[in-house]
Amino acid sequence: MSDQRDRKFLIDAMLGNIVSWLRILGYDSEYWVGDDDELIEKARRENRIIITKDKDLYVYATRCSIETILIDEDDTEHILGTLNRLHKISLEFDPELTRCPICNHLLQRDGHNVREWLCNNCGKRYWMGRHWKNITKILEEAKAIGRRS
Ligand SMILES: [Zn+2]
Repeated sequence: MSDQRDRKFLIDAMLGNIVSWLRILGYDSEYWVGDDDELIEKARRENRIIITKDKDLYVYATRCSIETILIDEDDTEHILGTLNRLHKISLEFDPELTRCPICNHLLQRDGHNVREWLCNNCGKRYWMGRHWKNITKILEEAKAIGRRS
């Protein structure tokens, strides 16, 4: 299951690490701490889908006609599995679409080394090292959970 990563997300503070995951997967994703009304206003203005663990916020945002995804799961693999199964969020890593997990900017391939990426915005470099195996492992587990449930 693959898509063009054209959906954008706004993720509430309780799901902090999911922001980084969605960025790695190529989705324009922002993290939100603060007032619910401002969150809804930002989602509307920027055409973002809200992802939250807060049931009251889910009900309120849905009532305000903002597309909102309510998460029940706690661990990363299960959350990603559910996003994949119910909301068609791709768990396939695409090196051309991946974004900086820290600042959400699209990453550039390093010209000399296909295993390395550079963020032109915050200057951070990423490479397919040991950390990479961990990312792949979690995505594989999330895919298995998505298929199973
Ligand atoms: Zn960056």
